[in-house]
Amino acid sequence: MSAPPLVALVTAGSVLLLAALVALAVGYVLACRIWPYANCPRCHGSGKSGSPTRKRFRNCPRCQGTGRRIRLGRRLLDRRHSNR
Ligand SMILES: [Zn+2]
Repeated sequence: MSAPPLVALVTAGSVLLLAALVALAVGYVLACRIWPYANCPRCHGSGKSGSPTRKRFRNCPRCQGTGRRIRLGRRLLDRRHSNR
């Protein structure tokens, strides 16, 4: 009984790693299709940019009051679609 050569082990390992990376990327893109938005980092999803007392507010300038930002993966998807 002989052990498999080191090269074969390394190759198998890198193939596995690559498969894992591809699976992660596919999962991320799918997630960006289903959930294209994340909370705006500036207003944490409230859409408001408030005074210190929070009684008065204006629309958050970063997200124009929507409280959301488009995720990077979704932006890539949109760009790909518009190029077609
Ligand atoms: Zn915002």
